[in-house]
Amino acid sequence: MAQQKGINYQDVKQKNKLLVLKCIATSNGISRVAIADATGLSKMTVGNIVTELMEEMYVSEEGNSASNSAVGRRPVQLTLSSASPVVCGILIKRYVCQIILSDLSGIVIDTESFVIHQCSGDKLITDMLSSFKKIQARSQRPICYIGISSLGPINAAEGKILRPPFFYNISDLPLVSRFEQETGLPTALIHDANAGALAELLYGLGKNIHNYVYLHIWNGIGAGIVINGNIYGGDSGQSGEIGHTSINYSGPLCDCGNHGCLDLYASIENMQRDIIELSTIYSSSPLVRINSPSWEQIVSAASTGDSLGLVVLDRFCSYISFALVNTLNLLNISTIIVGYPNPMNVPIVEKLMQPKLQHSLQASVGGEIRILHSSFRDAAPLIGSVAVIADRVFSGELPLPDYHRSPSSSLS
Ligand SMILES: [Zn+2]
Repeated sequence: MAQQKGINYQDVKQKNKLLVLKCIATSNGISRVAIADATGLSKMTVGNIVTELMEEMYVSEEGNSASNSAVGRRPVQLTLSSASPVVCGILIKRYVCQIILSDLSGIVIDTESFVIHQCSGDKLITDMLSSFKKIQARSQRPICYIGISSLGPINAAEGKILRPPFFYNISDLPLVSRFEQETGLPTALIHDANAGALAELLYGLGKNIHNYVYLHIWNGIGAGIVINGNIYGGDSGQSGEIGHTSINYSGPLCDCGNHGCLDLYASIENMQRDIIELSTIYSSSPLVRINSPSWEQIVSAASTGDSLGLVVLDRFCSYISFALVNTLNLLNISTIIVGYPNPMNVPIVEKLMQPKLQHSLQASVGGEIRILHSSFRDAAPLIGSVAVIADRVFSGELPLPDYHRSPSSSLS
């Protein structure tokens, strides 16, 4: 039998300190009183912790407190200090890699990117390190951690990209160990859809929702699942491969070994094929005059009411809804946050999917099925590459970087 362990005073103190830091990092300015309300800690405890965080230069007061109070008695707002630790976040997509620099609040300070083309595992790591070094050289603050969000499948626990379909035959790539060796910095790996779900949980819509599925659409479909306010990662961090759940048991064989996977139906290639097949019926659609229209072009056409765009996107949404019903029924979840590129910024996918899911889930889930557009549009998996580190710092899994600096070295 496992022996029960007590909690030391120092552990409680550190836990409260991280809770207050999280509260400040995930709010866009918050007062001491509001932190006390949100955390249940006494105002005195909050005051003491804030003083400590300010002395350690993690936190600062927004603007000048004296002038604030003179103007409108607005309580002094606390934010992360401009000298607080920064994280390098990296997102690996099929054709591009994006690199950002951010503090623990998820606000982007600097960016880099490169195109992935005819790549090998070694070349990918070399290019990623090269971009990391560029962003590191420009940073005025030391980078403390690296978070990597990647297309799947991955093994997060072992820090490896496994064998994503159509990804240059890259397999079993030990990204985390290579990055830690080359940079000397602790590095974490997360599945891109889980990263999107985590970005929403820490910094976006998920702050106030206990259970939801984050659905990510681009070059495949991924889902991140949040249950009781926590990401469900599964045994090896591979959860969320909704694209490889079957919607047709007698369908074609997928690369993953399964038959009739969602990715085989809800794909840009199938949408392009549908457009060609329907081009004589919808000959006035601008989509018929584009050679291999992109996702953005199809979504833009549908958003402006183009009939062909709507028909094609509606079929795409039917496939996704069919797969999602299984997930939502299994978990009794009624909220979906969806992220996808849409130049028109119109919630067209949400509008097409909502009645399909509502109809299918009326009897089982009950109530209204809510489909919300991601706070970060299509960038949640990128912000999630920072969130995976921030989350571990706030939970105490990663140490708060020792960041005592003399006032003369602080940035203004
Ligand atoms: Zn599959």
